[in-house]
Amino acid sequence: MNIPLTQLPQIQIPSDQDATGRTLGDEEIALVTEALRCGTLTATKGKFAKRLETEFASLIGVKHAHACSSGSAAIHAAIAAIDPEPGDEIITTSITDMGALSPILYQGAIPVFADVDARTGNVTARSIAERITPRTKAIIVTHLFGNPCHMKSIMAVADKHGIPVIEDCAQAFLSTYRGQSIGTFGALGCFSLQQGKHITTGEGGLIVANDSALARRAYLFINKSWGYGDANPDHYFIGLNYRISELQAAVAVAQLAKLRGIVEARAALAARMDVLLEGTPGVSVPFRTPESEHVFWKYSVLVDPAVIPGGPPALAKELKLNNILTAPRYIQKPAFRCAVIRDQRTFGNSRWPFTLATPEAVDYSAERFPSTFEYLDRVLVLPWNEKYTQDTLNYLAATIYQAALKLSEGGVA
Ligand SMILES: *Cc1c(COP(=O)(O)O)cnc(C)c1O
Repeated sequence: MNIPLTQLPQIQIPSDQDATGRTLGDEEIALVTEALRCGTLTATKGKFAKRLETEFASLIGVKHAHACSSGSAAIHAAIAAIDPEPGDEIITTSITDMGALSPILYQGAIPVFADVDARTGNVTARSIAERITPRTKAIIVTHLFGNPCHMKSIMAVADKHGIPVIEDCAQAFLSTYRGQSIGTFGALGCFSLQQGKHITTGEGGLIVANDSALARRAYLFINKSWGYGDANPDHYFIGLNYRISELQAAVAVAQLAKLRGIVEARAALAARMDVLLEGTPGVSVPFRTPESEHVFWKYSVLVDPAVIPGGPPALAKELKLNNILTAPRYIQKPAFRCAVIRDQRTFGNSRWPFTLATPEAVDYSAERFPSTFEYLDRVLVLPWNEKYTQDTLNYLAATIYQAALKLSEGGVA
């Protein structure tokens, strides 16, 4: 869209880090006040966490939901529910949040990285299949930026081998694949209520499952494995206090009522952005997994370094001059290049559980991850928010166009 930047009004872009880009309001204040007045702030005794769990389960169509303290805690509980033996392998993706990876190590399992789809950054069934060994105990998939993984092929591989899948839905509230809610395909689904997610309680998380035994184990794990409600309760196995508080749950109940609107607004804005970006040299709009609904936690474009010299970092630098803060390369480097994994920094100097790994499980040679590197070399992540207006979109699209044109012509716009 070729609008000269000088003709655009300087605008404030809503941010999910403060009130400008959050939907926190009177509804949250009313429920938090109610929680405070009643004086019960622990979820073990209060009503808000229970209400959050019931309402969330019915919203996405799953039997059980348990609220917890973070998305990382949700992933940890899901892994603990599956209960791997030390040294068991868990196949995951090289492009995700560390909160989805550290819990694997805390449970004594080995993260085995699969490659991704170079169009979406989502882990692929084909790469997962290549990484399966007799020691594979679980598969964790991340629905990156709110765009569902190809669940049909992933579940086919998992089911063929009888391996449970954990869905990391931290970025994918209410997204669907073939009309079914993300988080309900695998054995367990995990969500985050952290500050920057679709809805927030500052920190917080949710675990969902249809299987009662798995849901129960996840619930016990976040409650120090104390058998609440049992005739002869005990601390049945190793577990932590990963509870949400009633204050957070009260906020979450109010936020949940706004979730559908947030998701729909973000998707509608993204569709308009696609149109505005048409014809921008070297920039392609987010690829959507077929038969799915992308819920746009972020709006990620691919930048062709052959057209735009310097690729995403160069474009990001230009955009920053116009107050648009983007994330070139998203997480910068694949997870296996982070110190914790690369240098096996775990417990003391033990390197455990990596000491139990086979050489293949920790083979991070670049040739095993061609699409991971290709994707990171191209992706530029734009912050996305339901409060964007047509002016915001125009400003973003025009700035991106001008910057891309300037860089692609190797000089002045
Ligand atoms: C945010 C996030 C997490 C971790 O959630 P926290 O609530 O920050 O612990 C895990 N996985 C993905 C994909 C995320 O985006």
